[in-house]
Amino acid sequence: MTGVGQPSSVRDRIEVVRGDITTLSVDAIVNAANSSLLGGGGVDGAIHRAAGPRLLAECRLLGGCEPGEAKVTAGYDLPARWVIHTVGPAWRGGRAGEEVTLAECYRQSLMAARDLGAGSVAFPSIATGIYGFPLARAIPIVLREVRNHLAVEALPARVTLVCFDAETHEAYLEALGRA
Ligand code: ADP
Repeated sequence: MTGVGQPSSVRDRIEVVRGDITTLSVDAIVNAANSSLLGGGGVDGAIHRAAGPRLLAECRLLGGCEPGEAKVTAGYDLPARWVIHTVGPAWRGGRAGEEVTLAECYRQSLMAARDLGAGSVAFPSIATGIYGFPLARAIPIVLREVRNHLAVEALPARVTLVCFDAETHEAYLEALGRA
């Protein structure tokens, strides 16, 4: 039974939305960056455009980021206070540790959010765009890592999985049994 003063269930702490992650008023958004951290296409480009040039200036100080790692900057002109930059695995057929690296992206980003004291964090679908990670193989990894984190950590209280396109949105909803 869930009542006043009781922590909400893991299920209730996960939300799937379709939209543009740069518009969300959450404490932190996650960027699917590349290892230079100097900007790129897809969601990375959108985040840099929306955050303004001060984001790139801070990223230049970070010395890049390895696949699976997560590094934090301010959000500058974004509604979000922080950006957690992580680098997904470029898909090379699935035998180069891509699934482990993708899991590490979510795990490290969630730990970074927790360490920031972020109450809410939003993720894009890391690596399933330009990096070519198959969506159907990514989603179970995403849900496992988010659930595992929320089962043992109070922060972030809420995780939003942001889907930019209809195909990604439908696949996430189906995987969560909310289609
Ligand atoms: P990667 O290189 O890690 O594959 P991409 O940016 O190419 O990163 O794609 C990751 C996902 O982010 C894709 O599903 C893409 O459609 C989505 N995406 C692109 N722009 C945005 C945005 N503004 N907000 C949320 N998701 C986005």
